[in-house]
Amino acid sequence: MKYFRSILLAFLVGSFLPSLSQELVDKEELIKDLNYLASDELGGRGNGSEGNEKAREFIADRFEGLALTPLQDQYFQPFSFTTRAGSKQGVNVIGCIKGASEKKIIITAHYDHLGIRGDKTFNGADDNASGVAGILAIARYYSINKPNNTLIFIAFDAEEMGLQGARHFVKNLPFKKTEILLNVNLDMVGRDDNNRIFASGGSHYPHLRSVLEKIKEKAPVTLMMGNDQPSDGHNDWTLSSDHGPFHQKGIPFIYFGVEDHPDYHKDTDTADKIKPAFFQSTVTTILQTVDEIDQTIR
Ligand SMILES: [Zn+2]
Repeated sequence: MKYFRSILLAFLVGSFLPSLSQELVDKEELIKDLNYLASDELGGRGNGSEGNEKAREFIADRFEGLALTPLQDQYFQPFSFTTRAGSKQGVNVIGCIKGASEKKIIITAHYDHLGIRGDKTFNGADDNASGVAGILAIARYYSINKPNNTLIFIAFDAEEMGLQGARHFVKNLPFKKTEILLNVNLDMVGRDDNNRIFASGGSHYPHLRSVLEKIKEKAPVTLMMGNDQPSDGHNDWTLSSDHGPFHQKGIPFIYFGVEDHPDYHKDTDTADKIKPAFFQSTVTTILQTVDEIDQTIR
């Protein structure tokens, strides 16, 4: 009986533990959210379009369903910006989960993409329906498992027009900069032929690099570091997405994203190309990272 029990225990430890950590993120829900955001109905979520508005209504409904609190009086943060074509409007979506500490971890993903151009719909499944579905999964986890720090989830608008939503937020910080531990930004986390996800930012912020080294050991996906120094040339991603304005203001960041693929910024970046198991693994890895930071960094 004892022998049997130890075999049973070995079996349980060997086979169930990895899947338990996978279950931090509900794969069905993750894919369902991505499929909706990347659907033709949302028309590629171009800034100022009806599909873009539908996307942000969906995100706000989801925040409400998870009992996230608005930062001010509502989830929406409207802003204006100027392009060569004139003045434009955008809307960020912001929801919070309060922790015991006033310190904040800001978890972000842009929800806009390129919209419809000519007769082509740029669905932006990986860029960046994946990141938005990812932050919703992380919000879902922390709506049940309360964090130590206050978590602020932001779906940014107008990233594709020059990181406009992030620029507006950072320029008009609604709290002290010193209260922010870091920005964790997700942009393209749903597919990679080599099953690798990059976590950039560690070269700028060594205290985050040691967190990533630890996560690398247990991550259910190959976690790569780098792509964040001038010597990386065009692969220096320091200012490539919404974490850029945070970094420029001296706020630490970790950016999670895959290397560019052939469908990057093409109308072929569609939901059927997403790799569900990889996607679930990357979001799990990001959640493990946020949790490690929430537990250890003050
Ligand atoms: Zn993007």
